Amino acid sequence: MSDCLFCKIVSGQVPAKIVHQDDQCIAFLDIAPQAPTHVLFVPRRHLASLNEATVEEKELLGHLMVTASKYARDNGIGETGYRQVVNCNRDAGQTVFHLHLHLLGGRPMGHFG
Ligand code: AMP
Ligand code: ZN
Repeated sequence: MSDCLFCKIVSGQVPAKIVHQDDQCIAFLDIAPQAPTHVLFVPRRHLASLNEATVEEKELLGHLMVTASKYARDNGIGETGYRQVVNCNRDAGQTVFHLHLHLLGGRPMGHFG
């Protein structure tokens, strides 16, 4: 997707503070952090949202979750806790239409809101 911001970060056309890379995903610091730890885990392959994910993507989606959890443990928020969030479309407030998982931690968070 030539006009997708996160595809451009994946390809290196747009800079980001990358904290993890593997064959399936990259992770970088959110530009407007909502918590002391706020990292985005992004599949290398373009999928606009969770609505495009089928059973074919179940391994990829699991990979994002376990990779983010390992990052949390390795970066000192495993015990205190963290949240993983995937926003889908308007009511969830999705603003970048390349699937991504937010990892948030380092402060107490309200239950839902
Ligand atoms: P969402 O609202 O779930 O679509 O999340 C999009 C996230 O991308 C927001 O938290 C933004 O702060 C973040 N974001 C937007 N542009 C950039 C960028 N260039 N580098 C890093 N994070 C970004
Ligand atoms: Zn994309």
